[in-house]
Amino acid sequence: MNTEPEFKPGSERWTAAAMSDLPSLCRGTMGNKPVLWRTNTRTVLADPSPEFGEKLLCDGIVVNMGDACAFSCTYCYVKGVVRKFAHHVVDLYNADAAAGACGSRRPLDFHEVVIRRANALRVLESQLVRRDGSPRYSDPEDRRVAFTSSLVDPAPNMDLLRETAEACKLILQHTGWQIRLLSKSSLLAEIVKFIPPRHHHRLIFGFSTGTIDDRTSRAIETGAPSVSKRIKALRWLQDRGFRTFAMICPSLPQENYDQFSRNVCEAICAERCEHVWAEAINVRPDAMPRTLEGLLREGLHKEAEMLRAVHGPGAGAAWEDYTRQTFLAHARNVPAGKLRYLQYVTNHSAGWWARMRTKGAVLLGADARRLGLCETPARPAVTESDTTPSPTAGQSQVPRTTNL
Ligand code: SF4
Repeated sequence: MNTEPEFKPGSERWTAAAMSDLPSLCRGTMGNKPVLWRTNTRTVLADPSPEFGEKLLCDGIVVNMGDACAFSCTYCYVKGVVRKFAHHVVDLYNADAAAGACGSRRPLDFHEVVIRRANALRVLESQLVRRDGSPRYSDPEDRRVAFTSSLVDPAPNMDLLRETAEACKLILQHTGWQIRLLSKSSLLAEIVKFIPPRHHHRLIFGFSTGTIDDRTSRAIETGAPSVSKRIKALRWLQDRGFRTFAMICPSLPQENYDQFSRNVCEAICAERCEHVWAEAINVRPDAMPRTLEGLLREGLHKEAEMLRAVHGPGAGAAWEDYTRQTFLAHARNVPAGKLRYLQYVTNHSAGWWARMRTKGAVLLGADARRLGLCETPARPAVTESDTTPSPTAGQSQVPRTTNL
């Protein structure tokens, strides 16, 4: 059965040609989702973006070319984050749908649409270059790390990969920054074909591998390529000397945490990654039914049961035990100095986690901030030499830019 929403081909509001800086790369749908455009975009680059700096994924610079992803992970947190500035796009679409203007059969939820930012490349360029042509970030010693993306996957299909590549080229041309790219798509590796080799040493590639089991990823990472393809792409990049990092996020409760951690570290070649981020799964209550449903649909009854046991009212201690066990297993298996375990703490749990910072725990959340336990990226963070002519993975480390 074709579940793709119907569109009126000429509908002004929902066609892309006038919205994109790469009109040849426009589609009406992506992964069976309608592509909507946010036209009130004033920024693509967020600087500073302290939250992702605290996660040590970047030095407070975050790039987003869209607001709703082409993938539909059941645990996705973005809906809550973009409520203020992007939900009107979905509301507008649903109002038009109700009036019969765009042919959709029913109102769509946030995870059922793709939202791109209109003229995103032009907006980005205007954030990097002044009207007189001079760069806004002209300090040659400013080698901070920018992160893409926090709201959408940067490489779910070739169209968006090309857009991401163009965005990277603008940043690489007009700043001295490095760029950390995180994706659930094996296509991400293809981006090196679109970016001049002289810039490759400023790119750091990572793939989400919270599980290394294709069935589990298919159950909860709807629409994304299999995790085995992602691992293959990661290894492809590592074998060619590109800089990589690992993202063992989000991982489900396990029967044997040590075995899980060892298996993932081996699959992703943790020793060849500059850093290894990891995190337990934080499923918002409204995302829990979809996550459980996904697991059950794949026949993963035990996994669903274990997840149910650590979430919801009264499961606080079980959840804390699960995340501590996940952390301790990674602390034993990830090569020394590379682990960055992301943990939202409470007033109650902060003490234990604070003692784990020397082993790689990175504390997050309002209580961590209030207690002065969050990391503070330096501004600007001078990192490796920017004159290296070719990638040197394993040698070029992004140093900790924190006050640890
Ligand atoms: S890839 Fe990330 S942004 Fe996209 S749906 Fe999944 S969790 Fe959300």
